[in-house]
Amino acid sequence: MALADTDTTTVNAVRPLAVVLFGSPGSGKGTQSKFLVRWLGIPQVSTGDMLREHVRTGTAIGKSIAARMKAGELVPDRLVNELVFERLSRPDCERGYILDGYPRTPEQAAEMLRVLGAAGTAEVVIHLVVDYNVIIARMAGRRVCPTCGTLYNAISNRPVQEGVCDLDGATLVVREDDRPEVVRARLNEYEALTRPVLESFRQAGVKLFEVNASDQAPQQVFEQIRAELASRGLTEPGLVEQSPAARGRTELVGK
Ligand code: ADP
Repeated sequence: MALADTDTTTVNAVRPLAVVLFGSPGSGKGTQSKFLVRWLGIPQVSTGDMLREHVRTGTAIGKSIAARMKAGELVPDRLVNELVFERLSRPDCERGYILDGYPRTPEQAAEMLRVLGAAGTAEVVIHLVVDYNVIIARMAGRRVCPTCGTLYNAISNRPVQEGVCDLDGATLVVREDDRPEVVRARLNEYEALTRPVLESFRQAGVKLFEVNASDQAPQQVFEQIRAELASRGLTEPGLVEQSPAARGRTELVGK
């Protein structure tokens, strides 16, 4: 879209768009992230993927968090914050990014709001709401491709050939922390530590909307998200029109 160049009071500046996907384990954040990446053309920043990569490649960070990850426990806030902000400072995040799995504690939320506020980032939080029993059933049937990270599900998102990734033919595996006893621990931790993050967002006045992600196909959930973002004018990450009149608004005008 071309930018208006006749309005001399308008200053065009890059204003990143942070789309925060919020929801319990198994609520479909990873799947919706991938839809959003394709639609908005901005990267997914998944703390779970980043941390698993450290464990997989055996870095010092990976070694320090492996046991906690395996048990489904959260890793320390300071470590996650550092990894996230380093990632967000890279050039591919200049126009915006999808945050998947972050922030997960009120402390992480406070730090995120502080850093993003200083950068002039426009934030929007999408809360994927799913029934507890639906989550338990979903996670029991969840399989992941060890090569490309694509998630499959025995109920709603089966691979064409049982046990094999559609994209690269790798044999699908059960993630260590998807075992039933670990799933319950993760859900308890979500209720105790992560759900309060919603309150932090509300108090900070961050834009937030809820989407029913319990009983609809992933594509339908995405259509709801798309409609909500479009109704708020949040469909073109990157350049934001900033004029004295527009200051304080988050109207995005294209690339
Ligand atoms: P899920 O959303 O299905 O629980 P993730 O892939 O997002 O799974 O996270 C896997 C694990 O990585 C978590 O159980 C936790 O150990 C760690 N982790 C991910 N994100 C964070 C975070 N923001 N803060 C602390 N630990 C995290």
